[in-house]
Amino acid sequence: MKYPKLRELREAVTALIKGPYTTKFPKVPSPAAPAYRGKPEFDEEECVVCGACANVCPAQAIEVIEEDTPEGKRRMILHYDICQFCGQCHRDCLTEKGISLTQKYDLATLDRKECIVTIEDRLIFCEFCGDPITTPKHLHWLISRLGPRAFSNPSLILASHEEIELLEKRMLREKDVPLSRSDQLTFLCPRCRKQLTLKEEWGR
Ligand code: SF4
Ligand code: SF4
Repeated sequence: MKYPKLRELREAVTALIKGPYTTKFPKVPSPAAPAYRGKPEFDEEECVVCGACANVCPAQAIEVIEEDTPEGKRRMILHYDICQFCGQCHRDCLTEKGISLTQKYDLATLDRKECIVTIEDRLIFCEFCGDPITTPKHLHWLISRLGPRAFSNPSLILASHEEIELLEKRMLREKDVPLSRSDQLTFLCPRCRKQLTLKEEWGR
Protein backbone atom coordinates (compact mmCIF):
# COMPACT_ATOMS: atom_id res chain seq x y z
CA MET A 1 0.00 0.00 0.00
CA LYS A 2 3.04 2.21 0.46
CA TYR A 3 3.87 2.59 -3.26
CA PRO A 4 0.42 3.61 -4.50
CA LYS A 5 0.34 6.37 -1.87
CA LEU A 6 3.70 7.67 -3.08
CA ARG A 7 2.49 7.53 -6.67
CA GLU A 8 -0.64 9.55 -5.80
CA LEU A 9 1.50 12.06 -3.98
CA ARG A 10 3.77 12.43 -7.03
CA GLU A 11 0.71 12.93 -9.26
CA ALA A 12 -0.69 15.56 -6.89
CA VAL A 13 2.61 17.48 -6.90
CA THR A 14 2.82 17.21 -10.72
CA ALA A 15 -0.75 18.50 -11.05
CA LEU A 16 0.07 21.42 -8.76
CA ILE A 17 3.03 22.41 -10.92
CA LYS A 18 1.64 21.63 -14.39
CA GLY A 19 -2.04 22.34 -13.75
CA PRO A 20 -4.96 19.88 -14.08
CA TYR A 21 -4.87 17.25 -16.84
CA THR A 22 -8.56 17.77 -17.70
CA THR A 23 -9.64 20.45 -20.21
CA LYS A 24 -11.89 23.41 -19.45
CA PHE A 25 -14.49 22.27 -22.00
CA PRO A 26 -17.22 23.51 -22.53
CA LYS A 27 -15.98 26.88 -21.24
CA VAL A 28 -12.95 26.62 -23.52
CA PRO A 29 -13.39 24.79 -26.88
CA SER A 30 -11.58 21.49 -27.05
CA PRO A 31 -11.12 20.32 -30.64
CA ALA A 32 -11.47 16.61 -31.37
CA ALA A 33 -8.59 14.49 -32.65
CA PRO A 34 -8.17 14.70 -36.47
CA ALA A 35 -9.48 11.16 -37.03
CA TYR A 36 -12.49 11.61 -34.71
CA ARG A 37 -15.83 10.48 -36.18
CA GLY A 38 -18.53 12.85 -35.02
CA LYS A 39 -21.87 14.12 -36.29
CA PRO A 40 -22.50 13.03 -39.91
CA GLU A 41 -23.55 15.79 -42.31
CA PHE A 42 -24.70 15.78 -45.92
CA ASP A 43 -22.93 17.99 -48.45
CA GLU A 44 -25.54 19.92 -50.47
CA GLU A 45 -23.23 20.17 -53.49
CA GLU A 46 -21.94 16.61 -53.58
CA CYS A 47 -24.92 14.52 -52.39
CA VAL A 48 -27.18 13.38 -55.24
CA VAL A 49 -29.92 12.06 -52.88
CA CYS A 50 -29.64 8.54 -54.31
CA GLY A 51 -30.39 6.77 -51.02
CA ALA A 52 -27.43 4.35 -51.20
CA CYS A 53 -26.12 5.38 -47.77
CA ALA A 54 -29.48 4.49 -46.17
CA ASN A 55 -29.11 0.94 -47.52
CA VAL A 56 -25.73 0.40 -45.88
CA CYS A 57 -26.40 2.09 -42.52
CA PRO A 58 -26.25 -0.71 -39.91
CA ALA A 59 -28.23 1.34 -37.36
CA GLN A 60 -30.92 2.28 -39.89
CA ALA A 61 -30.32 5.86 -38.86
CA ILE A 62 -31.03 7.26 -42.33
CA GLU A 63 -34.69 7.46 -43.27
CA VAL A 64 -35.78 7.89 -46.90
CA ILE A 65 -39.19 9.44 -47.48
CA GLU A 66 -40.60 9.62 -51.00
CA GLU A 67 -43.66 11.76 -51.66
CA ASP A 68 -45.86 10.00 -54.21
CA THR A 69 -47.28 13.18 -55.75
CA PRO A 70 -46.55 14.80 -59.15
CA GLU A 71 -44.32 17.38 -57.41
CA GLY A 72 -42.90 14.63 -55.20
CA LYS A 73 -39.59 14.83 -53.43
CA ARG A 74 -37.17 12.35 -51.92
CA ARG A 75 -36.24 13.51 -48.44
CA MET A 76 -33.45 11.87 -46.49
CA ILE A 77 -33.38 12.30 -42.73
CA LEU A 78 -30.34 11.24 -40.74
CA HIS A 79 -31.18 10.67 -37.07
CA TYR A 80 -27.87 11.17 -35.35
CA ASP A 81 -29.34 10.24 -31.97
CA ILE A 82 -29.32 6.60 -33.16
CA CYS A 83 -26.21 6.88 -35.34
CA GLN A 84 -23.26 4.70 -34.28
CA PHE A 85 -20.69 6.97 -35.95
CA CYS A 86 -19.31 3.96 -37.78
CA GLY A 87 -18.60 5.89 -41.00
CA GLN A 88 -20.06 3.28 -43.34
CA CYS A 89 -22.33 5.85 -45.05
CA HIS A 90 -19.25 7.94 -45.88
CA ARG A 91 -17.23 4.91 -47.01
CA ASP A 92 -19.97 3.63 -49.34
CA CYS A 93 -21.31 6.99 -50.57
CA LEU A 94 -21.99 6.89 -54.31
CA THR A 95 -20.17 10.16 -55.00
CA GLU A 96 -17.64 9.58 -52.19
CA LYS A 97 -18.24 13.13 -50.91
CA GLY A 98 -22.00 13.28 -50.29
CA ILE A 99 -21.76 12.70 -46.56
CA SER A 100 -18.93 12.97 -44.06
CA LEU A 101 -18.44 12.56 -40.35
CA THR A 102 -17.53 15.93 -38.91
CA GLN A 103 -15.53 16.47 -35.72
CA LYS A 104 -18.63 17.79 -33.92
CA TYR A 105 -19.16 15.83 -30.70
CA ASP A 106 -21.06 18.21 -28.42
CA LEU A 107 -24.46 16.88 -29.48
CA ALA A 108 -26.35 16.74 -26.18
CA THR A 109 -29.93 17.98 -26.33
CA LEU A 110 -33.13 17.77 -24.32
CA ASP A 111 -35.21 16.96 -27.39
CA ARG A 112 -34.20 14.01 -29.57
CA LYS A 113 -36.42 15.31 -32.38
CA GLU A 114 -33.77 18.00 -32.92
CA CYS A 115 -31.14 15.36 -33.70
CA ILE A 116 -31.61 15.30 -37.45
CA VAL A 117 -29.85 16.43 -40.59
CA THR A 118 -31.80 16.40 -43.84
CA ILE A 119 -31.35 16.70 -47.57
CA GLU A 120 -33.91 16.51 -50.38
CA ASP A 121 -34.36 16.73 -54.13
CA ARG A 122 -37.20 16.48 -56.61
CA LEU A 123 -38.16 12.99 -57.83
CA ILE A 124 -38.56 11.76 -61.38
CA PHE A 125 -41.46 9.30 -61.84
CA CYS A 126 -42.01 6.52 -64.36
CA GLU A 127 -44.32 7.97 -67.00
CA PHE A 128 -46.10 4.63 -67.41
CA CYS A 129 -46.63 3.16 -63.93
CA GLY A 130 -45.96 6.30 -61.84
CA ASP A 131 -43.35 4.69 -59.56
CA PRO A 132 -40.53 6.98 -58.41
CA ILE A 133 -37.28 6.42 -60.36
CA THR A 134 -34.68 8.66 -58.75
CA THR A 135 -33.66 12.31 -58.44
CA PRO A 136 -32.46 14.57 -61.30
CA LYS A 137 -29.22 15.14 -59.38
CA HIS A 138 -28.59 11.40 -59.41
CA LEU A 139 -29.25 11.16 -63.17
CA HIS A 140 -26.98 14.15 -63.88
CA TRP A 141 -24.23 12.57 -61.82
CA LEU A 142 -24.59 9.39 -63.90
CA ILE A 143 -24.40 11.43 -67.12
CA SER A 144 -21.20 13.13 -65.94
CA ARG A 145 -19.67 9.76 -65.07
CA LEU A 146 -20.71 7.94 -68.24
CA GLY A 147 -19.91 10.69 -70.73
CA PRO A 148 -21.05 9.74 -74.29
CA ARG A 149 -22.09 6.26 -73.05
CA ALA A 150 -25.01 7.94 -71.26
CA PHE A 151 -26.72 8.17 -74.67
CA SER A 152 -27.36 4.41 -74.56
CA ASN A 153 -30.00 5.01 -71.87
CA PRO A 154 -33.18 6.93 -72.88
CA SER A 155 -33.82 8.25 -69.34
CA LEU A 156 -30.31 9.71 -69.24
CA ILE A 157 -30.80 11.26 -72.69
CA LEU A 158 -33.96 12.93 -71.41
CA ALA A 159 -32.25 14.12 -68.24
CA SER A 160 -29.49 15.69 -70.32
CA HIS A 161 -32.17 17.49 -72.38
CA GLU A 162 -33.40 19.02 -69.14
CA GLU A 163 -30.06 20.79 -68.81
CA ILE A 164 -30.60 22.48 -72.17
CA GLU A 165 -34.27 23.17 -71.30
CA LEU A 166 -35.72 20.94 -74.02
CA LEU A 167 -37.55 18.63 -71.66
CA GLU A 168 -40.52 20.92 -71.02
CA LYS A 169 -41.13 21.23 -74.78
CA ARG A 170 -41.64 17.53 -75.53
CA MET A 171 -45.11 15.91 -75.70
CA LEU A 172 -46.00 13.96 -72.57
CA ARG A 173 -47.48 10.47 -73.02
CA GLU A 174 -51.23 10.00 -72.69
CA LYS A 175 -52.54 8.14 -69.65
CA ASP A 176 -53.93 4.54 -69.90
CA VAL A 177 -52.32 3.93 -73.30
CA PRO A 178 -50.35 0.64 -73.51
CA LEU A 179 -46.57 0.79 -73.82
CA SER A 180 -45.43 1.20 -77.41
CA ARG A 181 -42.35 2.17 -79.45
CA SER A 182 -43.04 5.89 -78.92
CA ASP A 183 -42.38 5.32 -75.20
CA GLN A 184 -38.72 4.65 -75.87
CA LEU A 185 -38.04 8.31 -75.22
CA THR A 186 -39.94 8.68 -71.98
CA PHE A 187 -38.87 8.33 -68.36
CA LEU A 188 -39.55 4.68 -67.51
CA CYS A 189 -38.66 2.76 -64.37
CA PRO A 190 -36.45 -0.32 -64.90
CA ARG A 191 -39.48 -2.66 -64.73
CA CYS A 192 -41.45 -0.79 -67.41
CA ARG A 193 -38.32 -0.33 -69.55
CA LYS A 194 -37.84 -4.12 -69.45
CA GLN A 195 -41.48 -4.70 -70.41
CA LEU A 196 -41.13 -2.33 -73.36
CA THR A 197 -37.90 -3.96 -74.54
CA LEU A 198 -39.46 -7.43 -74.38
CA LYS A 199 -42.48 -6.18 -76.29
CA GLU A 200 -40.31 -4.56 -78.95
CA GLU A 201 -37.93 -7.50 -79.34
CA TRP A 202 -40.28 -10.47 -78.93
CA GLY A 203 -43.77 -8.97 -79.07
CA ARG A 204 -44.54 -10.03 -75.48
S1 SF4 B 1 -24.80 10.76 -52.69
FE1 SF4 B 1 -23.88 9.72 -50.94
S2 SF4 B 1 -24.72 10.81 -49.15
FE2 SF4 B 1 -25.97 11.38 -50.88
S3 SF4 B 1 -27.71 9.93 -50.83
FE3 SF4 B 1 -26.16 9.05 -52.24
S4 SF4 B 1 -24.92 7.70 -50.94
FE4 SF4 B 1 -26.08 9.08 -49.55
S1 SF4 C 1 -22.17 6.72 -39.38
FE1 SF4 C 1 -22.89 4.59 -39.48
S2 SF4 C 1 -24.68 4.55 -38.14
FE2 SF4 C 1 -24.25 6.70 -38.55
S3 SF4 C 1 -25.54 7.21 -40.30
FE3 SF4 C 1 -23.55 6.61 -41.12
S4 SF4 C 1 -23.75 4.39 -41.55
FE4 SF4 C 1 -25.44 4.98 -40.18
